[in-house]
Amino acid sequence: MPRLNPNSKILIVGSGVFGISTALWLARSGYRDVTVLDMQDTETAGYDPAVGIDSASADINKIIRFSYGEEIEYQRLATQAAGMWDEWNRQIVEESEDLPESLKKTDKLWWKSGFLRLSTTGELGEFELKTLRNMEREGIRDTQFRSDDTAERFGVHKAVLDSTAGFVEAYKSCAFALCLAKKAGVKFILHPMQGKVVSLDVTQEGKPAIKTADGLTHEGDLVVVAGGGWTPSLIPEADGLLETTAGSIATIQLPKDRPDLWERFAPENFPVVTWGMKEGKGIYSFPRDGNGVIKVGYRGTKWTNYDDVEGRRISVPKTEHVTEKKEKNLPLTSIAAIKEYISVNMPELAEFGISSTKLCWYTDSIDNSFVVDFVPGRPGLAIASGGSGHGFKFLPILGREVVKILEGNGNETVYGNMWRWRHSTTPKRNGLEEGEDGPRVLAKQKMSSEVDWSFLSGSSKL
Ligand SMILES: Cc1cc2nc3c(=O)[nH]c(=O)nc-3n(C[C@H](O)[C@H](O)[C@H](O)COP(=O)(O)OP(=O)(O)OC[C@H]3O[C@@H](n4cnc5c(N)ncnc54)[C@H](O)[C@@H]3O)c2cc1C
Repeated sequence: MPRLNPNSKILIVGSGVFGISTALWLARSGYRDVTVLDMQDTETAGYDPAVGIDSASADINKIIRFSYGEEIEYQRLATQAAGMWDEWNRQIVEESEDLPESLKKTDKLWWKSGFLRLSTTGELGEFELKTLRNMEREGIRDTQFRSDDTAERFGVHKAVLDSTAGFVEAYKSCAFALCLAKKAGVKFILHPMQGKVVSLDVTQEGKPAIKTADGLTHEGDLVVVAGGGWTPSLIPEADGLLETTAGSIATIQLPKDRPDLWERFAPENFPVVTWGMKEGKGIYSFPRDGNGVIKVGYRGTKWTNYDDVEGRRISVPKTEHVTEKKEKNLPLTSIAAIKEYISVNMPELAEFGISSTKLCWYTDSIDNSFVVDFVPGRPGLAIASGGSGHGFKFLPILGREVVKILEGNGNETVYGNMWRWRHSTTPKRNGLEEGEDGPRVLAKQKMSSEVDWSFLSGSSKL
């Protein structure tokens, strides 16, 4: 582990949530030579997925929740992050002369729209019950409304309305974080050649180095790989600890001539909803965004995509724009689940059909906790990844904890201990045990196409 000083040369691979938050907090902590490399020009595109950025972080919106079952450390970190999200909202209004191009003074990143978690049966899941017990313990149980609390009734569903939660506008939040990092002195190389890291090396002096697609070698005192779903491709040691999987996303465009629906699904009027998480439906949806787009996600099954990476068979991203092999369609299973949710819960949207679909790539760890540590046996090489589908909400705060780990104090912190390099020998390892033989492999699925986007077509039958 390198001993860092303010002039240490620190290279960060990836400008997603893990990379940008780390860079921001390193610069804020006094490190003067921090460079972020990315193979996508996230700054020019403002991280906007509609402009062709493919990453977990480059998305329309993400859920902000504090409900974490028994994992009170994540609940506490999310609660602290919320204070910072409030502060970012304030800064956008009050310090608007310094905003990135993609943000306006009227933009708001963090919306407390509420978070309605619907069960499809008459029972609340164990996760809900544990969360409620933890909320009680923290003295904030009165922010949660159970459908069978005496004062509330939601009809036949069992449900909890979490009044503290909501969502953030994701790509705009990343653009704001990048802007803050730049102001704090972080340097950026964001380019498909100059910014694309093709290999990680060690110099003769034992320092970490990275080679980029333009043939250059960049030496550092510390290299942090925060490559999201591409992290396992760059770090073979992460095999068995991390796996890249895909969530399914669909959008519905509200027509301009339906102001009634724009009003009904506005974030001021409509919450984030999850549906049937316990029962395997695995659906979540958001209020409409400023363009009238409603995003619906399916995470009932996270898909894998196995391919050859330098002699290894590992799951790698397959996206619409940035990967060599392209994919924008969803498995029919995902489309069918999303259509069922809309038909049951938002039938007034069915007539418009689905407007777009996309696979969005998670980096799952064996236990759904993050992985932030030095890579064993690789001097000066650290990893910050394993977002496991819940990292976004920590964007403003994550780097604070990462810096402590990079400075060698991980053993003394709660999060350093939670996020350390680890192994598991238990048979069940968050699906990683399935490998290429498992049922989630994308190549084994019947894929949808645009004909399945209509609610009238019968072709989404499996
Ligand atoms: C479908 C889905 C839904 C989610 N929903 C939520 C939610 O509601 N709430 C929440 O809190 N979290 C959520 N998450 C999790 C959250 O989005 C992630 O934890 C977080 O965005 C991961 O950030 P990252 O920096 O690890 O990876 P990414 O955002 O994927 O960024 C990785 C970056 O590294 C770059 N890169 C990769 N390889 C290289 C290379 N070789 N050279 C140069 N650059 C490289 C990529 O171009 C990319 O910009 C969700 C994730 C997914 C996939």
